[in-house]
Amino acid sequence: MFALRARQARQLGQANLRAPTSDIDYLDELHADDGDPGLQPVVSTPSNKIRGRLGRRWTHNKQLMVRCCGIITSLATFFGSEAVTSVKEFIHVTFPVHYPGSLPSFIWYDNNCQLLRHLVAYDDPRDARLAEVGFPVDVFHASRKHKDSDEFCVFNCSPVTFPELMDGINWVFNSSAAEQANNWFGRFQPIVKEMSVLRYNFFLDEMISLRNEWWVERLRADGFQPHFIPLEDLETRIHL
Ligand SMILES: [Zn+2]
Repeated sequence: MFALRARQARQLGQANLRAPTSDIDYLDELHADDGDPGLQPVVSTPSNKIRGRLGRRWTHNKQLMVRCCGIITSLATFFGSEAVTSVKEFIHVTFPVHYPGSLPSFIWYDNNCQLLRHLVAYDDPRDARLAEVGFPVDVFHASRKHKDSDEFCVFNCSPVTFPELMDGINWVFNSSAAEQANNWFGRFQPIVKEMSVLRYNFFLDEMISLRNEWWVERLRADGFQPHFIPLEDLETRIHL
């Protein structure tokens, strides 16, 4: 964290910091689920990569949307790749425009800086509402994934630009919620990989529903108050 602050200060000082927001009610996370053990690089060149695979694969990965409390709110199947355009569509579908109150204030995703680069570069009017959302990355990403000369991630996604989400050097929310859900979800891969599409989707939807029911009871037992957000609140975007 201190290295990040020093790195940020080295580059442009504090002047261009992203304006912090005080709304931390919603924290979501996207997580990639691409753990195909049969994926092994065979030939690699700077311009092209050929990969061999021991076994077939019908999809690229499943993508989960997970609240920081651990509840899974959405599931998508990605084909071909985990492109940021697909991630963006997943966000739009999960938090539809006719329910503006559903849009979280922050979305946590391990490739957030590339997602944000895409949003800025394409400047699609349909994405304008995502300008209200913060896209942080973790400390490891911010300090190891880019060169010092890459300022975009440091000034838009680095943890030091989200002081409202930090308590010292730690996040104030469970940053492992999606990873924990993903570890659980990945155990179904051997069961579902040869299922038909209908059975595959039905099975995974049911497993997620059962897990959410169990998770709600677990949250209640821990003293929390999980609840559904009233529809009228979802229809209105509340700015805190
Ligand atoms: Zn980055």
